Order: sequence, then C-alpha cells, then structure tokens
Amino acid sequence: MTLNRRDFIAVGAATAASLSAPAVLADGHGKPRVVVIGGGSGGATAARYIAKDSKGAIDVTLVEPSRAYFTCYFSNLYIAGLTELDDISHTYGTLAAKYGINVVHDWAVDVDRASRTVSLAGGSVLPYDKLILSPGIDFVEGAVPGWSVAAQNKMPHAYKAGSQSELLKAQIMAMPQGGRFAMVAPPDPFRCPPGPYERISMVAHVLKQTNPTAKILLVDPKETFSKQALFEEGWERHYSGMIERVGPDFGATNVTVDPEAMTVDIDGSVEAVDVCNVIPAQKAGRIADVAGVTDGNWAPVNAADMSSKADPDVHVLGDAAQQGDMPKSGFAANSQAKVCAMAVRGALTDSKVFPAKFTNTCWSLIAPDDGVKVGATYEATAEKIAKVDGFVSQTGEDAATRKATYEESVGWYAGITADMFN
Ligand SMILES: Cc1cc2nc3c(=O)[nH]c(=O)nc-3n(C[C@H](O)[C@H](O)[C@H](O)COP(=O)(O)OP(=O)(O)OC[C@H]3O[C@@H](n4cnc5c(N)ncnc54)[C@H](O)[C@@H]3O)c2cc1C
Repeated sequence: MTLNRRDFIAVGAATAASLSAPAVLADGHGKPRVVVIGGGSGGATAARYIAKDSKGAIDVTLVEPSRAYFTCYFSNLYIAGLTELDDISHTYGTLAAKYGINVVHDWAVDVDRASRTVSLAGGSVLPYDKLILSPGIDFVEGAVPGWSVAAQNKMPHAYKAGSQSELLKAQIMAMPQGGRFAMVAPPDPFRCPPGPYERISMVAHVLKQTNPTAKILLVDPKETFSKQALFEEGWERHYSGMIERVGPDFGATNVTVDPEAMTVDIDGSVEAVDVCNVIPAQKAGRIADVAGVTDGNWAPVNAADMSSKADPDVHVLGDAAQQGDMPKSGFAANSQAKVCAMAVRGALTDSKVFPAKFTNTCWSLIAPDDGVKVGATYEATAEKIAKVDGFVSQTGEDAATRKATYEESVGWYAGITADMFN
C-alpha cells in the first residue's frame, strides 16, 4: 500500500513537520546501505551507533520529517512548569556533521521489500541493504468514540510531544477556577505505562499552585496500572481530594467523548469538563503496517537482533515492536537500538556480535523531588525479550530517597539524549 504525503500528515503527525528536499543520499560507493525510518529514541540511537562504530564503512540515512525532536520523557514536567519546552528539544546537526549520517527531513511513505527500497513523500527512492523502522505509535481509529485525530486540537492527546504538549499546557492554564480536567487513559499495551499517571500527578501539581479548587477526573479502562500503589500514595499525600479515578467497574470501558460540547460520557453518565486529555489505544506507527511487518497492530520481532519475523533485512525498534517483556519506553527503544546496531553492523561488515542484553528503567515524578522508578534487565530468548530481574520503588520511602531518585532521572535524561543526538 502506498500513502501520499497528505495521508500521512492527516493520520498521524502531531508535531509540526518541516518538509524539505532530501540531503545527499547514499550514492552506492560500494558501501552497504542502512536506511533508518524515524529519528526518535530507537531510530536516532541506531543510526548514531551504526555510523559511529562502523567508522564510515556503512552508509547510514536517517529519515525523519521533523527538524526538532521533542522527547515525551520530561514532557509531563514541561506541562507542570518544571522545565521548558526548549529543554526537551533536540536537533540532528551533530548526527550529520560528526558521524556523516545523511539526515533526510521527509516522510517515508512506502517500503518495497522485494526491491529493498523506501519511497519518500518528496519523491526520492532510497535503496537499502538493511532497513530499520522506529516510527513510534499511531492511534487506533475509533478507539474512543467521538474522538479522532481531527479533534486533537480540542481534546489533545499530548502523547507525541511538541505542539500537543504546548496546547495541553495552555488549556490547563486557561481553566476556570474550580474547573475540571479529565483524562481518558488508554488500554494496554501503550507507550510509557506510567506516563498517564505521571501526567495526572504533574497536572495536579500545577493546578494546586494556580487553581487549587480544580478537580481531576481519571477515566481508566484498566483494572490496575503501573506503579499504582506509589502513585496512589503520592496523590493522597500531595493532592488529597483532588483526583478521582473511575475504573472499569464504574463504566470506564464504555466511554464516548464530545469535543464540541466538551463532555465525557462514562457508561451513560455525561460529565462536563473544561479540559479533556484523550489518550487513545495505540498501534505501531503506520509505516510499519505499510511495510507489511505488523500483525495489524504491532510488529513481531526476533529478540536477538530486533529483526522482523516477516523479513530478516528489516528491523523494528521501540514502541512499534512486539518484542516480549519490555515496556514501550524511550530507555527500552534506546537499549534495543544498540542491540540492533551491533547485529546490523555485524551482518554488513563481519564485525563481532555479542549476545543481546537489554535494560530499562522508567522514572516518574509525583511532585517536585518526589521521584519513583521501576526497572529490569532482560535477555533474548528464542521466543521473546525475557525479563531477568527487576526492582521498583517502595511506598513509604523517605524524602531523601525520593529526591535521589528524581536526580537520577535528570542524569538519565542527559545521558540518553546525548546517546541519541551527540
Ligand atoms: C508523556 C510521556 C512520558 C514518557 N516518559 C518516558 C520516560 O520517562 N522514560 C522513557 O524511557 N520513556 C518515556 N516515554 C516513552 C517514550 O517517549 C517512547 O517509548 C519512545 O520515544 C519510543 O521510541 P520510538 O523510537 O519507538 O518512537 P519515537 O521516539 O516516537 O520516534 C518515532 C519517530 O519516527 C518518526 N516517524 C514516524 N513515522 C515516520 C515516517 N513515516 N517517516 C519518517 N519518520 C517517521 C516520528 O516523527 C518520530 O520522530 C514517555 C512517553 C510519553 C507519551
């Protein structure tokens, strides 16, 4: 299936995309060619590691429509006023200048696996020996009746960072005193399992400062959620009486929204709200489907090298991949990208490949200096990426521990963004 540029922008682009003529393309100096689609947590890391470690032996082209990547990580802190949008924005200049990566600001609109080519919206066709897909997520159409991407300016998702995060923050700041914020949370599996609950915490934090009589309604179709005991303890401690969670027992699996009327219908009970953050059910970014490597939702991969189960020359990273036990996180995408980069470099240049090992930690901020985390190490088995061992913050921890956990997350942010873009 081929999509044109308008289709792509209409269906998925939450961040403003700047389209331009491609930069210099791989011109077949006899070098093997890798094309990476998506310059986020998985794609930027994979491109950087392949180019850096192959020392020019592999031509690497990175296709990404946006000139600036806004990390979703720390975007909730931006909404809370605890960081600036500029602090979560990153550009691709160093990847091009220092590692010789061909950074092409355009949309990939088609993949022909038979001829091993990628077509771009601007008309270019890129040949590849290995293709890496890390396109992140798109939303399942009709997942929340009444909501569509066309309604994202009324009821933002802010689940791709950038203009959506700015919009949600502006709407929260414009709420009337004593007004009501609602979130419609997604079903599993979705990007960043603690993300909605960190957002609830950060919205509560900012409202406590600016609008202390405001209320927060969390409509959640899941029985349980990530770090639930930690979040609920924190909400009671910092924001007592402010947050109401409606779970599946009270109709949260039967939710409709009306963006014009600004209402949420929970199993027949219609609630008027001032801001409504709808985070719909998710699936792999559309280009993975176009490439024919998904099961309709996610792209099954082999854990040892993140290669697609449909094609050994296509690798899928990050949120789009169906890999096993790892959560869909930036840390996980970065970890998978390094495994994939080593395997791709090994296949194309005969360099040594070590057994795959993966790690992940998801930090969340409940209130300033009150950070919690959950994490694990993983290995590749024949079936999946399998969890080896894990850890999680405990309820009742002292303030010094929580502050140290938050500071750890700040160090992690500096480290992972350098690992992607520097
Ligand atoms: C609110 C929130 C908080 C989060 N907090 C954390 C956290 O604290 N820690 C953590 O580890 N993770 C966190 N995450 C999750 C993390 O952001 C994602 O899991 C991670 O970014 C996934 O990486 P990815 O490479 O799969 O996708 P992305 O990083 O989203 O990158 C995908 C890229 O592909 C591009 N793209 C898509 N389609 C095409 C196409 N057709 N052609 C060219 N390019 C294309 C997009 O423009 C995008 O830049 C959070 C997420 C959210 C929403």
